Amino acid sequence: MSCVFFDLDNTLTDRSETVAAYAKVFLQDFESHLQDGLNAEIFGQLLNKLDAGGYGGHENRSRALIDRPIWRKPVSSDELIQHWQNWVPGHSVPMDGMHDCLQTLEESGYRMALVTNGSSQSQRTKISVLALASYFDACIISGEVGCAKPDSAIFNKAIEIMGCEPGASVFVGDHPVNDYQGSLACGMTPVWFEGRHIWPHIRPADFSVRKLSELPGVIHQILRSN
Ligand SMILES: [Mg+2]
Repeated sequence: MSCVFFDLDNTLTDRSETVAAYAKVFLQDFESHLQDGLNAEIFGQLLNKLDAGGYGGHENRSRALIDRPIWRKPVSSDELIQHWQNWVPGHSVPMDGMHDCLQTLEESGYRMALVTNGSSQSQRTKISVLALASYFDACIISGEVGCAKPDSAIFNKAIEIMGCEPGASVFVGDHPVNDYQGSLACGMTPVWFEGRHIWPHIRPADFSVRKLSELPGVIHQILRSN
C-alpha cells in the first residue's frame, strides 16, 4: 500500500503569510500600547524577520520586539508570547495550491498522513482552520506522541499506524534534516519542498518541488516505479 506523508508548517501552511495575517490582529489588540500610525504590512515584515521562518524562538522574538521603538506603554515578554500562541495557529494561511494538491492525491487513491512537530493545541488548531482532517487517515503530532522529527521513532510510529511499507512511502517536507534526512533514514522516499531552507547536504535531493502543484506528478513518478 502506497502512502504519502506530509509535514505541516511551511509545507502545507504558508508561515510568512500566516505571520502577516497575525500582524493585523496584533496591531488591533495592542493598539493602546503601541505608537500611532504603524503600518500593518511593514509590521508584518518585521514580525516575519524576528520569527525567522519559525526558528526565531519565542523569547528572542518577543525581547527583540520589546526593544523596538514602537511602544508607548510597556508590555511583558510573557504577554507577547501568550498572545502569539493564542492567535498565530488560528490565522494559518494555506500554502498556494494546498487543497488542489491534496484533492488530486486523494482522487489518485493515495492514503495520506500528517507528521508534524509542535504542541497538540497549536497543530490541532492549524489542522482545523485549514480543514485538513478529511484528507488524512492519521495526524501524528510530536507533542502527542512524545517523539519529534528527525527522530526515527516518530517516522516508525507513522509507518506502523498507516500499516504501510517504508519503501512504498513518500515523505514531503521543507526541512532538509527533520523531514528529508529523517524520513530517508527510515527507508521512505523524501521529496524536499524547496524555498524555506538552504540545502545543507553534499548530496543533492533526489526529488524536490518548488510548488505544491508540481507534487502529484513527482509522487506518481516515485510510486509508479516502485
Ligand atoms: Mg516544516
